[in-house]
Amino acid sequence: MPALTRRRTVTAVIGGVSVGSDHPVVVQSMTNTDTADIDGTVRQVADLARAGSELVRVTVNNEASAAAVSAIVEELDRLTVQVPIIGDFHYNGHLLLIKYPECAKALAKYRINPGNVGGKRHDENFRAIVEVALAYDKPVRIGVNWGSLDQSLLTRLMDANARHAAPRNARAVVMEAMVESAVQSAALAEATGLGHDRIVLSAKVSGVQDLVEVYRLLASRCDYPLHLGLTEAGLGSKGIIASAAGLSILLQEGIGDTIRVSLTPSPGGDRTEEVRVAQQVLQSLGLRSFTPQVTSCPGCGRTTSTFFQQMAQEIQDYLREKMPVWRGERPGVENMKVAVMGCVVNGPGESKHADIGISLPGTAEDPKAPVYVDGRLLVTLRGDEIVTEFLGILEDYVASHYGAAESAARR
Ligand code: SF4
Repeated sequence: MPALTRRRTVTAVIGGVSVGSDHPVVVQSMTNTDTADIDGTVRQVADLARAGSELVRVTVNNEASAAAVSAIVEELDRLTVQVPIIGDFHYNGHLLLIKYPECAKALAKYRINPGNVGGKRHDENFRAIVEVALAYDKPVRIGVNWGSLDQSLLTRLMDANARHAAPRNARAVVMEAMVESAVQSAALAEATGLGHDRIVLSAKVSGVQDLVEVYRLLASRCDYPLHLGLTEAGLGSKGIIASAAGLSILLQEGIGDTIRVSLTPSPGGDRTEEVRVAQQVLQSLGLRSFTPQVTSCPGCGRTTSTFFQQMAQEIQDYLREKMPVWRGERPGVENMKVAVMGCVVNGPGESKHADIGISLPGTAEDPKAPVYVDGRLLVTLRGDEIVTEFLGILEDYVASHYGAAESAARR
């Protein structure tokens, strides 16, 4: 399906999940629980994995969280939640990974931020983490963030720039410092013995144009798989739209092998939203399919009742609820296209383009709703049970078009 050409990178395998090269772009997420809270973290990891997160990162910021990691991974195994767990380390990663070998062993990857592995002992601490990765055969992500950029490196580059005959602006030097930090750290990791294919890089910023610039630069400088995401994307629609804008430009250029959407959840909000947004970005770009897509019109003066909006929402919710079961039993259903349209103007045409579509009656039309399957009129529904009847037709369509027998026949 992908119409886009992916930039060639090497492949890193993270707990059995391949990231890079021409592998599908991997969706990942991060918990916001206290990792020392084993039950709460297991619950959230399981929720994220069930929503479709293929890698989940947890904070490992102190001894209690490092001590909890192996129990979290064991409990997830017991619950048959198969998702690699990544440890996010800052400041004390070298100490925790050495003191808690069970944690080092249980994690599928370590995230190192080269901006905060220790000032004067930077290289020594960095190497200590890489040596643990070597001992347990783990990949690492070298994750640069402009909020915690290596200040000594930045100062050196700023000084060099100031001496230049035609100095660049400060923003350009910061972008270069981020890329240099990632690439130099990767070279140090390889000099310590880590394989070229055991390294993933990221360079996260919080502005869309900065993200595009820094990742284009990073992609031009190396062939490591790139973890892509806008850091601190923000709340609600701002975070979603900014992430979608930045990720889409880069993914369209073939840049990015795994993505995370760093939304700030509303208090008590659903952490799995970041997974759904990441999936939707990839599916909207035609890079991957995760769930059947509903095409619905915006409605207008021809749809004065709320029935049309409710029906579109009910069908979307129904598809989302069914996906955990269908994913195993109905391979290929994630590519299904469903149309729910508001009136005769575009309804029949759009419905014919979908696998299955319904065109509801507009205000001045006959109260009837033609249903199209594979481009042909199947039946015309009337009355109060249109939604139920349409969902029944949808179920029949899924049963007859997707499944073990159907997929075997297609092969
Ligand atoms: S399909 Fe009909 S109801 Fe929907 S936006 Fe177009 S004209 Fe309006």
